[in-house]
Amino acid sequence: MLCGMSRWLRAWGYDASWTYGIADDDLLQQARVTGRVVLTADAGILRRRCVRAADPPAHAVRNEDPPLIQLQKLARQLQLPRRAMRCMRCGGGLVEVPKAQVRGEAPPRTFLWLDRFWRCTACAGLFWRGTHFQCIHTRLQALDPLAPDSGQTLPRD
Ligand SMILES: [Zn+2]
Repeated sequence: MLCGMSRWLRAWGYDASWTYGIADDDLLQQARVTGRVVLTADAGILRRRCVRAADPPAHAVRNEDPPLIQLQKLARQLQLPRRAMRCMRCGGGLVEVPKAQVRGEAPPRTFLWLDRFWRCTACAGLFWRGTHFQCIHTRLQALDPLAPDSGQTLPRD
C-alpha cells in the first residue's frame, strides 16, 4: 500500500524496503531479520500480539494521505531528520563517481553541463543533480519538519 511513501522515505535518507503483495508473516519476519520498523496502513498487522510487543516494532500510516504527507507525519512522529538521499528505486546508498567514469552512460547534454555524478551501491543506477533532482529536493525542503535547509542532500557533502 505504501510504495509511494517508501520511495520518498528513501529520498529522505532511509533504507526503506517495499515488496508488492508480501504476506503479513513474511513482512514481519523480514522486519525482524533486517532490523526494520514495519510501516503499515493495515490495522490487522498492528493488532497482532507480536507487533504489540514490538517484535518487530511497527508504526501506523494513514493510507488516505498522499505519500509526502505520510512521510511528513512519519518524520515528525519518529523524529527522523533528513539525511543523505538514498536511491529512490531500491534504497541503496549513493556514492560519488568520477565524471570520466560516466562518459557514454550519462545523457550527452547532462554530461556536458554537470560535473558530479553518483551511483547506487545496490542497483548501480546513475544519478545527478538535474531537474528531476531539483524537483524532489524542492518538495522535500517544503515539508522538512525538523532540519534547517542543509543545501544539497544528494548525498550530503
Ligand atoms: Zn538503487
